Amino acid sequence: MSDKKRAPLDIKNLQTDTLGVRAGVRRTEFNEHSEAMFLTSSFCFDSAADAAHGFANAEKGFIYSRFTNPTVAMFQDRLAAMEGGQACIATSSGMSAIMTVAMSHLQAGDHVVCSRSVFGATIQLFTAILGKFGIETTYVDMSDLGSWKAAVKPNTKLFYLETPSNPLTEVADIAGIAKIAKAANALYVVDNCFCTPALQKPIELGADVVIHSATKYLDGQGRVLGGAVVGTEEFILGKVFPYVRTSGPTLSAFNAWVILKGLETLNLRVEKQSQSALELAQWLEKQPTVERVYHPGLKSHPQYELAKAQQKMGGPILSFTLKGGKEAAWKVIDGTKLLSITANLGDTRTTITHPATTTHVRVTPEARAAAGITDSLVRIAVGLENIEDIKNDLLAGLKG
Ligand SMILES: *Cc1c(COP(=O)(O)O)cnc(C)c1O
Repeated sequence: MSDKKRAPLDIKNLQTDTLGVRAGVRRTEFNEHSEAMFLTSSFCFDSAADAAHGFANAEKGFIYSRFTNPTVAMFQDRLAAMEGGQACIATSSGMSAIMTVAMSHLQAGDHVVCSRSVFGATIQLFTAILGKFGIETTYVDMSDLGSWKAAVKPNTKLFYLETPSNPLTEVADIAGIAKIAKAANALYVVDNCFCTPALQKPIELGADVVIHSATKYLDGQGRVLGGAVVGTEEFILGKVFPYVRTSGPTLSAFNAWVILKGLETLNLRVEKQSQSALELAQWLEKQPTVERVYHPGLKSHPQYELAKAQQKMGGPILSFTLKGGKEAAWKVIDGTKLLSITANLGDTRTTITHPATTTHVRVTPEARAAAGITDSLVRIAVGLENIEDIKNDLLAGLKG
């Protein structure tokens, strides 16, 4: 046996799909090929002095799984590499990732500028929860740079958006908004849930922080909840780590392992699903009972050029309105046998949703109308089934 150690892998210059299967690996003394799952709440030390040293350098070693665990660290390092960020902290869900960023960065008296077209619970979090602690949020039209600029106040500390948006797939100019956030000295946070690093790299376009609901495409198979915050080492280790260590919105090692393995097929899945979504969107545009189709890969999308410039593909989600109102929308949903009628997205199985009565039912009818979420709108998150089977399943309810 040679006692020469193999040189460690240098992940610089590797592509996202390579990073998805290679980055972040930590092997134990057994040299296992597949990543190990460390189901342990704490870690042991060789001596009292060793324990004292461990606690003094808590972010570097493994002490207690509320704040450090090797399986969670592998997921964090892999996702950070894929997003092009310096560091990452995993959380128990997407919502806890957003809460973690807010609690790590904001204090009473601060102001947030947020896109109006974000996940419903995100609006509840900023307004109903953070509002109780003296943090004020202004909502803006994500595609209008002027409205971001006009919303800035002297106490603005955070910019927040999601692109493409749910369910209308509006696209925000990530780089354009970065300039406004920088000028305002605000932390710029992008929820990269819909595109994932397989299709879009917000940090390369000027975002300071990327957050994820890992529940969606990162797991990709509808199994577990998880979240993540990616950013600079200074922000993640300096601000996010102490908050998570103290308050405990931690990702479990089991869920981290599931999502870590999900990352290995992320590019494959999301690219295939985006290709199918575009094909389905083009087909829906030709159906006589369909009024309008929303997908960033369609030439009819108002921000087609912008989407093409900042995304590798249009993304796996599309929505469409029917000429016959809510009745027609429900008819399409109820006519399916293959697609899953569920509010979730990011699964290998195609999901179909009526946003106005499910995901967006907590939004007031006026706000829904302003956001274009009409009663005739149907959202589809395209899975990995054969595209012809998906079309055939929709055809039953699309017939006039
Ligand atoms: C689902 C979702 C969230 C929340 O994530 P959870 O894991 O359900 O807490 C946040 N943002 C977007 C865009 C989502 O789709």
